[in-house]
Amino acid sequence: MLALEEAQSRILQPLAALPGESVALAAAHGRVAVRDRVAACPLPQFDNSAMDGFAVRAADTATARPDLPVRLRLNGAVAAGRPSSTMLLPGEAMRIFTGGMLPMGADAVIPQEACRSTAAHVDLEAGVAVGADVRRAGEDIAVGERVLEGGQEIGAGDVALLAAQGIAVVEVVRRPRVAVLATGDELKEIDAALAPGEIRDCNSPMLAAAVADAGGIPIVLPPSPDREDALEQALFAAARAADLIVSAGGVSVGDHDLVREVIRRHGRIDFWQVAIKPGKPLAFGALLDTPFIGLPGNPVSAFVCFELFARLAVRRLGGHRKIHRPRRPVRLTQDLGAHRARRELVRATLETRDGELWATPRPHQGSSHLSSLAQVDALLDLPAGDLLLRTGDAADALILNPNALAS
Ligand code: AMP
Ligand code: MG
Repeated sequence: MLALEEAQSRILQPLAALPGESVALAAAHGRVAVRDRVAACPLPQFDNSAMDGFAVRAADTATARPDLPVRLRLNGAVAAGRPSSTMLLPGEAMRIFTGGMLPMGADAVIPQEACRSTAAHVDLEAGVAVGADVRRAGEDIAVGERVLEGGQEIGAGDVALLAAQGIAVVEVVRRPRVAVLATGDELKEIDAALAPGEIRDCNSPMLAAAVADAGGIPIVLPPSPDREDALEQALFAAARAADLIVSAGGVSVGDHDLVREVIRRHGRIDFWQVAIKPGKPLAFGALLDTPFIGLPGNPVSAFVCFELFARLAVRRLGGHRKIHRPRRPVRLTQDLGAHRARRELVRATLETRDGELWATPRPHQGSSHLSSLAQVDALLDLPAGDLLLRTGDAADALILNPNALAS
């Protein structure tokens, strides 16, 4: 049986970011940039006013004092988007508004609060320095400066910068298409009537949501019965359609656990057991060169193993640099049993008390207990062994819901 970290690195080792595709800037948010982009124009593109006030020649204002004000003649106005073609002459001022292009001849702006004005004149009681309240062309971004870094995730702020640069199309890593295949004779789709012994397939919708959350495009196949021919057909269809196959169920040691066998026969299985609870049977391999991750069928195990393994694969294929969930120290709101045969991932909710994170395990932790998935904010990562954990003790948590950290 592999240790968690070893299994994770064996899954990630053969995977690399998918090729890029061009998308409109409006669709680039949250995507990963393929390559660096540099500024083709300076920002701001022209000298402009940082204030509502008056454009002046700083030299004209040098002698201004409260007892000896300088009077400048007003010659027109410039507003944002409405530049002036008039040259500012010595002894003149021009009305200017924030973002207005500095007129030729002017080299400073006096905020309107700092002077008195009439329709014809401006009176100043203090001088201003060259460049005062002027946003210089290129002071923000110089031509050739990097405005996007290959491998970075594009956020709303980056979108603003790219828009200012006139970059309307961005090359981003293609979103991984992830085939989701639930398996089991007992499974019915959620809106079908159930015969005795049948259950609703909850892994498909759960995994589709988790794939989308990881940045992938889920391709949900109909649940497959536990028959070799049906599984072969479904798995080959998945391998052809997707960049990654994620199946659930049929990877254990039961008579009906055929998924692993089908993959082994037609592709390869690299490993299939990891020393964690829940989720010991976890298979990794490939079919037709499409990587394959076989999750256990219990929805709780499938959820935890998706988080620990499949999510990393989706993130890596999607080009993300940060692929692991963040970890935080938390304190326990209750005692936790002493003996753990394997490293255990305990589903928990989080709350902040006095600036510290406290974790409450969900009440039913059995791997068949769906209630343990409700409102899960974190997975407590508890080591194997006879470690008695008491209320207030510290534990290590993988944060699944970053909003739970917020106030
Ligand atoms: P398996 O790994 O196929 O042996 O399944 C383990 C348990 O999980 C069994 O009780 C299955 O009925 C249940 N199970 C498997 N797949 C699903 C699914 N898609 N939705 C709900 N329960 C499932
Ligand atoms: Mg099954």
